[in-house]
Amino acid sequence: MAAQIIDGRKIAEKIYSELHSDIASLKKDGIIPKLTVVLVGDDPASAVYVRMKAKACEKLGIKSDTQIHPSLMTQEAILALIDQLNADKEVHGILVQMPLPGHMNSEKVIERISPEKDVDGFHPISKGKLQSGLDTFMPCTPYGVQKMLEYSDIEVSGKSVAIVGRSQIVGMPLALLLSQKANNANATVTICHSRTKNIDFYTKNADIVIAALGKPEFITADMVSEKAVVIDVGVNRVDAPENEKGYKLVGDVKFDEVSEKVRAITPVPGGVGPMTIAMLMYNTVKAAK
Ligand code: NAP
Repeated sequence: MAAQIIDGRKIAEKIYSELHSDIASLKKDGIIPKLTVVLVGDDPASAVYVRMKAKACEKLGIKSDTQIHPSLMTQEAILALIDQLNADKEVHGILVQMPLPGHMNSEKVIERISPEKDVDGFHPISKGKLQSGLDTFMPCTPYGVQKMLEYSDIEVSGKSVAIVGRSQIVGMPLALLLSQKANNANATVTICHSRTKNIDFYTKNADIVIAALGKPEFITADMVSEKAVVIDVGVNRVDAPENEKGYKLVGDVKFDEVSEKVRAITPVPGGVGPMTIAMLMYNTVKAAK
């Protein structure tokens, strides 16, 4: 039987409609949430992501400012810019689009952002608070995945979750989030990575499989069970000469065959991607509050 398709765009719209009233009441108090995005260099994918973020702000009535700098920008210059944004009372959220050019130290740049404005949730203080179960800015993609499960009425508590990928921006924080002693969490989580032997042993036995490894169509139907809910975080460009652009986007899951087998699945595009942006908007409003 074909799986339930979990529509990230629809769930993101629900999040936006909930944010409208918060934004309206902030405006009554004379506060307009503002997000500043810093983009260094001319990476085309980063430019697309930054435009999507600005568009979401515009739709919600959040002020946004995208600062584009040449790839030759120095580390000192970006740190000075962050100091300036930290001090600017009109700016509630600061996001530095990754990846930064090779000569910059990304950790140092992230550490310079004031934790009160860290809407990406990448600052060590935000990470530490997440690890300690304290209120903080949750990293947007993991938080988006958790919200997708919640809004799709998919129980997480007591379930076994296999996450493939252990990056600092997706796999690791997602494992923390879903295994916390908290609502929409309490799962038993296994983290798989490039050194894991027999990944299919873990994925086949999981109630929820989350693919976040950046390898096109890695998860196949024989790696999952019929009862599984499959969340595909991956976004990969693959050649598609038949398309006008010459490429198409695919996830880390072989959607056509896996969607014929499992209980529920997210598509790519239209799954986790829109949720990441929705949670960035959520965090920006939270920062303004
Ligand atoms: P990353 O930093 O490259 O991390 C990839 C992780 O996958 C690493 O932990 C790596 O293991 C593991 N891995 C790689 N090959 C593997 C294999 N063959 N078997 C098992 N594990 C393997 O990637 P990321 O930044 O987390 O992103 C992952 C994917 O999600 C990418 O496609 C990215 O574009 C996408 N993404 C989407 C969104 C969204 O909003 N939809 C947001 C962020 C990322 P090791 O640690 O052992 O190297």
